Amino acid sequence: MKDKDYYVGMDKAHLIHPLTMPRTHREKGPRIITEGEGVMIRDIDGRTYIDGFSGLWCVTAGHGRPEITEAVRDQMERLAYHTSFFGIATPPSIELADRVLGLFPSSFGLGRVLFTCGGSETNETNIKFARLYYALQDRPEKHKIISLHYSYHGLSLGALSATGIFPFQWMFEPLTPGFVNMPAPYCYQCELDLEYPGCDVKCARMLEEVIEEEGAGTVAAFMAEPVIGSGGIIIPPKEYWPTIRSICDAHDVLMIMDEVVTGFGRLGEWFASTLFDVRPDMVSLAKGISSGYLPLGAAVMSDRIYDLIAEKLPDDLPIMHGFTYNNHPVCCAAALANVRLIEDEGLIENARETGAYLLERLEGLRKYRSVGDVRGLGLVAAVEFVADKDDRTQIEPPHAAPTAVCEKAWELGLYVRPMMEVVGLAPPLTIDRATIDRIVDILEASIQEMEKQFFG
Ligand code: PLP
Repeated sequence: MKDKDYYVGMDKAHLIHPLTMPRTHREKGPRIITEGEGVMIRDIDGRTYIDGFSGLWCVTAGHGRPEITEAVRDQMERLAYHTSFFGIATPPSIELADRVLGLFPSSFGLGRVLFTCGGSETNETNIKFARLYYALQDRPEKHKIISLHYSYHGLSLGALSATGIFPFQWMFEPLTPGFVNMPAPYCYQCELDLEYPGCDVKCARMLEEVIEEEGAGTVAAFMAEPVIGSGGIIIPPKEYWPTIRSICDAHDVLMIMDEVVTGFGRLGEWFASTLFDVRPDMVSLAKGISSGYLPLGAAVMSDRIYDLIAEKLPDDLPIMHGFTYNNHPVCCAAALANVRLIEDEGLIENARETGAYLLERLEGLRKYRSVGDVRGLGLVAAVEFVADKDDRTQIEPPHAAPTAVCEKAWELGLYVRPMMEVVGLAPPLTIDRATIDRIVDILEASIQEMEKQFFG
C-alpha cells in the first residue's frame, strides 16, 4: 500500500463518488477503508468502526470470510470468465440457479433465473421480461409499470423511472415513458392522511384505482420493495401484500418484488415474500446474495412467464436481452459459498433474534424529543427524527438531523447511514447482542449531541 497522502490526493483529483457532494468532498476528502473482519471495518489510520450498514446493505455474512475467498480463488483458477450468451454455461451458474430457486417454496412456481451484476440491472431485466411476456401475447400496449413513492429500484434509466424518490430524477429527465407512481404504505407519515388500522390499508387498495385509471390493458406490472429500504425503511402493515396480490390477480398484472435489500435473510427469513407468504411473479435479488464480495444480482421469474416467452418467441429470434457479465462464474461461486455460510451458521435465526433485541434497545431512544418513530424487522431498523412529535413535522433543514447523528456516530466508531429523515441500521447478520449494545450506546450519544446542536 502507498501512504495516506497519496490516496487522499489522488482520490480528490480523480475518483467520482456516488451520492457525494463534490465540493464538500474536495474539502473533506475520502474516508479510506482498508480492512474488514466480522462486523468491524478499519480505516487507513487504523481506527476501527462497527459496520452498522453492511457497507450498503450487502455484507450479510460479515467481512473477511475465508470460505468465500477460497471459493472465488478456486473458480478463478479454473475459469475466471466465460459468456453465457449463445446457450453457453459454467458449473457455478447452474449450481447457483438450482440453489437460489430452491430457497423459495415450490408453490411459488419460481423456476427461472438470470444472474446480473447488481440491483439496477436486475430490475431492468425483470421490467423488460414483464413487457416481453405481454408483447408476445400480442399485447404490447400492456407495458406500464406501477411503483411506489419512496421506493428505490436503482439509478439506470429504466430502474430510475420506477424509483419514487424524486431528487434522484431531477436533471436526468426525460425519464423512460410508461412508469406510474402511487403512495407508499408509510404509516408514520401517511400520504393519505389516514391512521392504521382504521384506514383499511387504503394505500394498497388504491392500486386498483390506479390500474383502472391507467386501464388494466396498459399495465404490465406492479413493482415494489416488500419493505422499503433507502426511502426510509418503511414496513407495511400485514394486510398490505396479500391485498396487492389479489388486485394484481384480478387485473392480470404481474407482481415484481424488489428484494435487493430484503433477500437472503435480512428480515429473519430467506425472503420477504416467504416471510409475508405472498407469491411474487418476479423477484429482484442482489447485495446479500454474494455478501457484496463480488457484484451479483438475480432476476428470478416464474415458469409461467418464462415458458410462455419460450413458446411464443418466433423460431429465428433469441431472447434479445443480456449483459456481458450475466451468469458470471466467479460471482456465482462467491454466492454459492455465501449461501452455504448463511445456512450453516444459522444467520437467518440470528437475524431474527438479534433483530428483535436491536428493536427493543432502540425503543429506549423514544425518550428523546427528536425521536418520532423507531421501527424494524429482522436486522433492518430505523430511527426517524422530527421537530415536533405531535404534528410529525421535519427538522429544518431537511436531512440535516440524521446526517449530524451519523457524522457523530462515525467519530465514535459506528458507521450508519442517513436516509431522508431517518438513521438506518442494517448490520451483518453475524452480529451479536454485545455489539448491538455498543451500536445503541453510540447512537444515543450521537442523538444527544445532535439535539444540543439543533435544539440548544
Ligand atoms: N433495488 C433496491 C431495493 C436497492 O436498495 C438497490 C440499491 O440500493 C437497487 C435496487 C439498485 O441496486 P444497484 O445499486 O446494485 O444497482
